[in-house]
Amino acid sequence: MTDLPVVVPDVTADVLPFWDGAATDRLVIPRCRDCATFVWYPRAMCPECHSVDVAWVEVSGGGTIYSFTISHRAAGAWADHVPYVIAYVELDEGPRVLTNIVGADLDALRIGDPVTPVFHAAGATKVLRFTPASRAGGG
Ligand SMILES: [Zn+2]
Repeated sequence: MTDLPVVVPDVTADVLPFWDGAATDRLVIPRCRDCATFVWYPRAMCPECHSVDVAWVEVSGGGTIYSFTISHRAAGAWADHVPYVIAYVELDEGPRVLTNIVGADLDALRIGDPVTPVFHAAGATKVLRFTPASRAGGG
């Protein structure tokens, strides 16, 4: 396993709660107070009911692999880290997050596998990635 490169995010005021959470290994995402929809990507207006009463809430970070690909070629800082996994993880709360899966047995990785969040240092915050969740009894 190699540590994937990170890009230090441009943290702006409208997404500061997400990055503040990540800095302390917590996943914090917006949720509509009127219809309870989780809003991902972060926006000031709920995409379901158009309410602007959206608040940041901490979620478990647990989820499953919705889709993934294994990159065998890369450029720049990523070239030394192939193969690596690019994935959409569907959070238990519903949103699908574009991310990397780290620490996985690439031959055993499957859609639907449970994953848990890991946070990798990136400047003053951390970036969100996921790793396979441990399973009782092994694979
Ligand atoms: Zn709503």
